[in-house]
Amino acid sequence: MPDNNRIHDQIILGSGPAGYTAAIYTARSNCCPLLISGHQPGGQLTGTTLVENFPGFPEGIDGPDLMERMRRQAERFGTIMVETLVTRVELDASPFRIWAEDRLFRCRSLIICTGASPRLLGLPKEKELFGRGVSICATCDAFFYRGKEVVVVGGGDTALEDAFLLSRFATRVTVVHRRDELRAGPLLRERAMANDKIAFRWDSVITAIHGDPAKGVTGVQLKNLKTGAEDHLPCDGIFIAIGHIPNTSLFKNQLEMDDWGYLTTRNGTETSVCGVFAAGDVQDPFFRQAITAAGSGCMAAMQSQRYLECLEDAECLQCG
Ligand code: NAP
Repeated sequence: MPDNNRIHDQIILGSGPAGYTAAIYTARSNCCPLLISGHQPGGQLTGTTLVENFPGFPEGIDGPDLMERMRRQAERFGTIMVETLVTRVELDASPFRIWAEDRLFRCRSLIICTGASPRLLGLPKEKELFGRGVSICATCDAFFYRGKEVVVVGGGDTALEDAFLLSRFATRVTVVHRRDELRAGPLLRERAMANDKIAFRWDSVITAIHGDPAKGVTGVQLKNLKTGAEDHLPCDGIFIAIGHIPNTSLFKNQLEMDDWGYLTTRNGTETSVCGVFAAGDVQDPFFRQAITAAGSGCMAAMQSQRYLECLEDAECLQCG
């Protein structure tokens, strides 16, 4: 059981690839980090099926299995795992203070790996068919759609990048956008318009997803918001690209964020508060891959370690 009176060297918030990798690296430096995982350890990958792009698994690996292996690896070297939800943090002075339900934890260095949550459409079958035709990651899943027909929802940069990638595999990609103007930048817009495999359904939303867990996705019901007309579009996959919400509400007015609420980092994983580091999707609106999250978790662990060593050394210049 963690000792609430103890001041930990390092606390890690979050249990996705960034959090577990940060834990593996700090634990192997003999630091006994404490990792607070939330009530559903494992992050976004626990909701996926086959992961084929994480190096080291030539046959692929199930998302939950990959996360369980990372957790065991972090525990093996002495990470203390606490399954609780953080409700408040105070980062104005060291030691940093973290409240999780009715407990207070204190630490000299904090590594934030709380991730980002994909925006979803909120349709009844969306979650049931997740990994069975419904996807939030074209980079991860485009490969499975060779010779198939897919729909991409959204009008931003991600939606169009997903559409390009999918057009290399699928026979037809239909971008469904709720307005008649794309949010994506001009270069992506021009390229999308010029791609004859990519079609657009303007002013339209998906009102229902058809299919079942055995067959997967078989189509979508579309509604034109201007005319009210509805029709059925057969497809094998739906890629939802309507943005992400970084899990940063705990840090509002305490750490610098960009306009979308992602934590801003510099020199790797340093946040605006000395001794606080951020890794993974919580500070990355672009790549959002398990491998990039794991990589930045490693960087955060090493930077946190150097920060702690620096604290011991009065001569050492810290934090710019
Ligand atoms: P985004 O820019 O927020 O775009 C989200 C899109 O989804 C918008 O077109 C929005 O419609 C639509 N949308 C939102 N909620 C919806 C809903 N409930 N139903 C239907 N449609 C909905 O998100 P993003 O494309 O993921 O990009 C995030 C950030 O990363 C942006 O800053 C982007 O520029 C950046 N990014 C850059 C690149 C690049 O430079 N190559 C690549 C990827 C991402 P409206 O337009 O009507 O609001």
